[in-house]
Amino acid sequence: MRFEIITIFPAFFAGIFEHGIVRRAQAQGLVGIGVHDLRAFTHDRHRTVDDRPFGGGEGMVLKPEPLAEALDALGIERRQREHNDTREQHNEGTREQKAGQVILLSAQGKPFTQAVARELSKMERVVLICGRYEGVDERINELYCDMELSIGDYVLSGGELAAAVVVDTVMRLVPGVLGNEASGEFESFGVADAEISTDEEGVPRSQHGAGGLLDYPHYTRPAEFGGLRAPEVLMNGDHQQIRRWRREQQLRKTFNNRPDLLEGAALSEEDRQLLDAIRARSDN
Ligand code: SAM
Repeated sequence: MRFEIITIFPAFFAGIFEHGIVRRAQAQGLVGIGVHDLRAFTHDRHRTVDDRPFGGGEGMVLKPEPLAEALDALGIERRQREHNDTREQHNEGTREQKAGQVILLSAQGKPFTQAVARELSKMERVVLICGRYEGVDERINELYCDMELSIGDYVLSGGELAAAVVVDTVMRLVPGVLGNEASGEFESFGVADAEISTDEEGVPRSQHGAGGLLDYPHYTRPAEFGGLRAPEVLMNGDHQQIRRWRREQQLRKTFNNRPDLLEGAALSEEDRQLLDAIRARSDN
């Protein structure tokens, strides 16, 4: 899989992808990342990438021509737009036809979630356009982009941090990148297993697929730290008890921190009973 990032600050990415899993995935040839300097696609002495907004108002806007040239150089086809052509119709057609996505990072975009990341991880190529100033001339969005993505309900000064977040999140879901193929399912927002799975020795896994819940808390040595003891249940070697405790903790964390996630979560009968108990305790 390959990511192409278009930015006016290519130096921002120097170093950011040279650590841990992201570095290893590139070294193993599983993932490639290209960073493209938008100013390389300008033709004036000042290498101008922005201009004043039509209609007045604050700030500057990224001009369409350098961005169009950068996208053309990546072989991204410009859509032929008719005046009565809706963006949604175009998007459907584009997604079916190619194993790639052109994404505009934008505070106005759809929320970037683990589910979106899972879809993107199936693509051969993802192109990320980093906005700056007041944003990008909207015609770039209309002519080239498959979707606008927002990494959260706040305004960044540029799309670079958002692009790095998308690359990091998507890349670790590419098959082979995480050591344990399944570990993406077992963390926060992971998809549900059909049933509780076991390891080679028949021991139930620490949890079944997260089913859209948050992860459980983790502990390591020393057993006692800062006057707090790690939960005994994790040290007694009873895998059924450990699995059940972890599942309860997942439900508790989700209930306390992100109750909205419970609505769409894949819950078993056992989960529902645990959740009822958590609710009852919180009411008292
Ligand atoms: N005028 C824009 C608005 O109010 O939505 C904000 C522009 S922001 C200062 C500059 C650039 O940062 C945007 O074009 C976008 O690429 C990026 N950006 C800002 N917030 C973002 C977010 N939450 N998610 C993704 N990209 C974001």
